[in-house]
Amino acid sequence: MSYKVQGQRIVIVGGNDEALNKVRLVSKTTATVVIISRHIEADFRAFAVEVIERAFAPSDLDNAALVFVAEEGEDAELAKAEARARGIPLNVVDVPAECDFYTPSIVDRAPLTIAISTEGDAPVLARLVRARIEAMLSPRIGKIASLAGGLRQRVESLIHDGAARRRFYEALVTSPQIEAAEISGQGAEAAEVLLTQHVSADAKGVVWLIGAGPGSEDLLTLRAQRLLQEADVIVHDQLVPTVVVDMGRRDAERIDVGKAKGHHSFSQAQINTLIVRLAGQGKRVARLKSGDPMVFGRAGEEIAALRKAGIAYSVVPGVSAALAAAADTATPVTLRGVSSGFIMATAHGADDSDLRHWAALAQSGLTLALYMGKSIATEVAGRLVAHGASPATPVGIVVNAGRADKSTYSGTLAGLSSGQVAFSDGPAIIFVGEAVEAGDWADSAQLAGMSFKVA
Ligand code: SAH
Repeated sequence: MSYKVQGQRIVIVGGNDEALNKVRLVSKTTATVVIISRHIEADFRAFAVEVIERAFAPSDLDNAALVFVAEEGEDAELAKAEARARGIPLNVVDVPAECDFYTPSIVDRAPLTIAISTEGDAPVLARLVRARIEAMLSPRIGKIASLAGGLRQRVESLIHDGAARRRFYEALVTSPQIEAAEISGQGAEAAEVLLTQHVSADAKGVVWLIGAGPGSEDLLTLRAQRLLQEADVIVHDQLVPTVVVDMGRRDAERIDVGKAKGHHSFSQAQINTLIVRLAGQGKRVARLKSGDPMVFGRAGEEIAALRKAGIAYSVVPGVSAALAAAADTATPVTLRGVSSGFIMATAHGADDSDLRHWAALAQSGLTLALYMGKSIATEVAGRLVAHGASPATPVGIVVNAGRADKSTYSGTLAGLSSGQVAFSDGPAIIFVGEAVEAGDWADSAQLAGMSFKVA
């Protein structure tokens, strides 16, 4: 329930921090806020409120819409009795049994307001829930809601179809372009442009290339989560686990281009065609890729196809597998005096000159993070040594990085090249380089042969 207080007073009996907390909330209303107490302890100067340092008097409740009692004692009892006698809704701070109403935690994106209440049972929980909702909603969403309000009449006269109108509003409140424009004070202009596009009825869709991270839902970015909620279609790879895809809107269409129910997986050309076609139908497409979309994600080809078709797109970064693997094992992939850089490379299809190059880089102290190398790990390790890397170079491997079921292996290039290791199922990152030794590999399985010291 929202309660009208304009032109009336909100009276707070108490001058302590509890009173200050209520002031923070009610000073956002259009009421006149009055604080009455014999002991004004908190600092109310930051708020436009009237502070009266004296005993409570019944006439203080004249024209009061709401009363808060935030202290104990004679004045408090008098104020409670007076409020009840006059039928003015009363809130006694921290005494739910005496309250006529509770003040919820509020997410304030005026004109959008979200209230969270536990009816006084667990205010701490309400605050935590609030923090989550705060993180979900752009700070600009209120401004954008006002933009929508300002456009209502024009939208009604220009777009007659109800569904088309709804699409326009959805686009307005979810478009990253509008948000970006709002930041630079151009929100109204951008909203006009959007409206024109929708009026000409050829509103094109958009493709968001979204990094899903290594496979845990809490390693998604907030932006990724927001866009997944907005997408009409989610096109995802097989490496993206269901828990992450499930962060999307429940009624969004989902297309698994990794395995497509009993069919062959989609070819890259088919994926390009698919996302262009979906966006061409005006849909908002979340193209969800594991890790970061720009790292071994074939994003380049998809972006080229979108550009060619004139379809809007944007890219949302994600936690790449090597970074999740580094975090899992506390491995500093760059380390002062040891490793001055970090190479993300694919072991798949690497030729002799690649390997010679990497061997030299590893010798020079750089850390290699090899993607797509698990099935050929033994061979790659052997070839790195053959091309000049020291057999004693530390190696660390993380299977299922960033996930609850991760497993880790450590040793040296010589140990890995011996081939005596059975990895658990799942994708893997292979680290090679001196900095690996600085990580925490204490719980890892040892590769055969020489092993490095665990610090
Ligand atoms: N774009 C992704 C990489 C896709 S290529 C990213 O930035 O992470 C696929 C390769 O990524 C796999 O062969 C494996 O080497 C690596 N990979 C993806 N997810 C992984 C995970 N959870 N743990 C370890 N390696 C992973």
